[in-house]
Amino acid sequence: MNERNYWLDTVTMPSGTPDELPPRADVAILGAGFTGLSAARALARHGASVVVLDSNSIGWGASSRNGGMVLTGLKLGVETLAQRYGMELTRRMYAASLASIDLVEQIVAEEQIDCDFSRCGHLEVACKQAHFDTYARSVEVIAREFNHRLQIIPRKDLRNEIGSDIYYGGMVDQVSAGVNPARYVAGLAAAALRRGASIFEQTRVASVEPDSDHGDKRVRLSTSRGTLFAREVLIATSGYTSAATPALQKKIIPIGSFIIATERLPDAVARELSPRHRMIYDSKHYLYYYRLTPDNRMLFGGRAAFFPETGDTVRKSAEILRRGMIEVYPQLRDAAVDYVWGGTLDFCFDTMPHAGQLNGMYHAVGYAGHGVAMATYLGAQLAAQILGQPSENPYEGIPFPGAPLGLYNGRPWFLPFAGAYYKLLDWIS
Ligand SMILES: Cc1cc2nc3c(=O)[nH]c(=O)nc-3n(C[C@H](O)[C@H](O)[C@H](O)COP(=O)(O)OP(=O)(O)OC[C@H]3O[C@@H](n4cnc5c(N)ncnc54)[C@H](O)[C@@H]3O)c2cc1C
Repeated sequence: MNERNYWLDTVTMPSGTPDELPPRADVAILGAGFTGLSAARALARHGASVVVLDSNSIGWGASSRNGGMVLTGLKLGVETLAQRYGMELTRRMYAASLASIDLVEQIVAEEQIDCDFSRCGHLEVACKQAHFDTYARSVEVIAREFNHRLQIIPRKDLRNEIGSDIYYGGMVDQVSAGVNPARYVAGLAAAALRRGASIFEQTRVASVEPDSDHGDKRVRLSTSRGTLFAREVLIATSGYTSAATPALQKKIIPIGSFIIATERLPDAVARELSPRHRMIYDSKHYLYYYRLTPDNRMLFGGRAAFFPETGDTVRKSAEILRRGMIEVYPQLRDAAVDYVWGGTLDFCFDTMPHAGQLNGMYHAVGYAGHGVAMATYLGAQLAAQILGQPSENPYEGIPFPGAPLGLYNGRPWFLPFAGAYYKLLDWIS
């Protein structure tokens, strides 16, 4: 088994870090993932000078490591959202989730990105009868309030959707899509470069401070390649947000998520496991998510360890996920696992995305495992905002809570307790 990200074996990332960091730019962006590159592409095509800085390489973060599920909806259910924000704002949030998938589709077409984007739909499967019983109500609210149709799959029909008998039924959304995320992020980077953005890999930003440059109000970025003054800054560092932006770091909980990929499966086995090639996830808090890759591997992910990826958490997760996969699909008992890797999710304390300004810097974070489409979308919306163009950002201005009692300095000491709490919730609810 390779402790390596399968997707990276399917792609050549663009390169071309210029020799010297320019002294000035209209916009500096921290992070070369979906958020940062989508923003860079949109800004550069409107003539702004854009510098993207990443401590690692293009797509190194969650953007190349994820399940490639381009999903409708948010992490929280619509009823929770409506209670918290009211139906009108919830409608805008739901509409943004649908628009975000259209935007990914549009960018893929416009920039001719070869990334296996396909509107294959997603399937949520119920781990308990009580979970299945809530689906009817969700489908009804989503149809009535958002004019969007989902389909309930009773247990007796589930075999048309998935080759597993352990679930109590399911819910399908045909609008969701699948993508090869590494090829998609590579394509976004290539598009941003073609439009004139510069991308500096291996360039760590150590601090971002308000300053002035020859009397003009600017932001000063101290980086491992020198100093850069920018009119505007966008922080697009997601689960890898660091002490370079301490105010934001304190609002983000970095949570590990891990994935295994099997050997290539025979066509007949792949067809039995997932006859419609859906993006699948289950109804637990400590959930599993899984899908076939275009070359017929079963890619199976979950929050096997709550801590972010290290050699140790990746190795332990491989066995936990293999056991989980066999519970779902006993057919895979003898399938070899070829790859295992991990990545870091960004959860905010309210499990919501947040995009707007904090201390004079733009940010878009808090995707909570729903970031492929939403990061693309919010990057583009913030770019429009910076350019003074019309934008639609339903997350701007919603309360952005920090840790209760301020008991968090960016080191998530409470993760073992959170992990145990969610396991307990899955047991009792
Ligand atoms: C294992 C896993 C599975 C997932 N599956 C799905 C899925 O199937 N569907 C879905 O919708 N979402 C999924 N997600 C979430 C999704 O991948 C993320 O929400 C999305 O990729 C976030 O993109 P981003 O551009 O904001 O951040 P990232 O892609 O994480 O990029 C952040 C970048 O910031 C850089 N950086 C950090 N600090 C600095 C600094 N000081 N200076 C310079 N650079 C810095 C890092 O090097 C990194 O490259 C998954 C995430 C993980 C980890």
